[in-house]
Amino acid sequence: AKCGPDGNFDKGGMVPFGPIEMNPASGVLNYGQGLFEGLKAYRKTDGSILLFRPMENAMRMQTGAERMCMPAPPVEQFVNAVKQTVLANKRWVPPTGKGSLYIRPLLVGSGAVLGLAPAPEYTFIIFASPVGNYFKEGLAPINLIVEDKFHRATPGGTGGVKTIGNYASVLMAQKIAKEKGYSDVLYLDAVEKKYLEEVSSCNIFVVKGNVISTPAIKGTILPGITRKSIIDVALSKGFQVEERLVSVDELLDADEVFCTGTAVVVSPVGSITYQGKRIEYSGKQGVGAVSQQLYTSLTSLQMGQAEDSMGWTVQLN
Ligand code: PMP
Repeated sequence: AKCGPDGNFDKGGMVPFGPIEMNPASGVLNYGQGLFEGLKAYRKTDGSILLFRPMENAMRMQTGAERMCMPAPPVEQFVNAVKQTVLANKRWVPPTGKGSLYIRPLLVGSGAVLGLAPAPEYTFIIFASPVGNYFKEGLAPINLIVEDKFHRATPGGTGGVKTIGNYASVLMAQKIAKEKGYSDVLYLDAVEKKYLEEVSSCNIFVVKGNVISTPAIKGTILPGITRKSIIDVALSKGFQVEERLVSVDELLDADEVFCTGTAVVVSPVGSITYQGKRIEYSGKQGVGAVSQQLYTSLTSLQMGQAEDSMGWTVQLN
């Protein structure tokens, strides 16, 4: 769907996946005026398809669009477009337990703009692809390295929204970490360099006894939808949840650490390397009991195997 700066997106339509035309002077190609979302469709055992909290993605795109000086599709149009895309690609939604269909809504400044300014035209695209596990480790614990040279976000920057440039800026740190054998990078705050922020594509949680802590949302980390869901699931299971500044020192005596995200779901962390020192977290086969419990609770909700008392899933057919 396309629109001018007024934000009235046209109805758009379904086209086969493939290259699209883009103006070489477009805002997105030259000035990074682009925003994306990510959500998943899961197949239930009866064959029907569930979306997980698509309204949340629609609303997050609106917040991000404001920061990036772009109009965003209204929530209802966003959700309907996601539904239509999934229905048109039904056969690509894997069977229960064999993965999911990852859906990628993309909003870009497609109009030509030579001097730095918001583009005069916008394009909203959705594409989708079946996916399995995000990390090659699967559900096995991942190994992170705390990054002390590069930062993902700074106060006042765009770290709190899902703009494309945030991902360009983490490519190098991630590449170096992977070359050294780590699964991903854990970022610290750019001011005091001592508080946990997040991983390149997921949020982080630290478990100590019955208390589960996660960095508070303060503009430099992405307000993850999985993060928000896991907080509610953990509270409903009787855990105490704290959203606050979490110091990197707390990694030393944590019982468990795990990451959350649409792509990674709940990924247990097996080790974190900080200033050359490796901190190990070991549970049963390396997966901590709390991480395992929250993973099972969330995925059974997403796949329609547990009662959805929160009303988070949207059934498609
Ligand atoms: N942080 C970053 C930087 C991300 O890219 C993502 C993935 N969208 C997340 C956290 C997790 O967000 P969500 O749970 O909404 O997928």
